[in-house]
Amino acid sequence: MFKIVKRRTPTGRIVLVRGRKRPRIAICARCKKPLHGVPIKIPSEIRRLSKSKRRPSRPFGGYLCSSCAREYFREKARKIGG
Ligand SMILES: [Zn+2]
Repeated sequence: MFKIVKRRTPTGRIVLVRGRKRPRIAICARCKKPLHGVPIKIPSEIRRLSKSKRRPSRPFGGYLCSSCAREYFREKARKIGG
């Protein structure tokens, strides 16, 4: 959660402070492309957002990108259809 960073004080001294780690952008689990519609925020900030702003509401939203999800649904439909 926290990472030690060097910060210069107004007097010129360099001190070590605990800075917050920046959250990473969400990526697709299959093609590793960055996902759209997923905020780059820490979990406590994401909890404060409305539900519709947290991740896409479709199945696998926030886990697979739209094209990978589409491919997955097609594959699944083909298997059921025989
Ligand atoms: Zn993908």
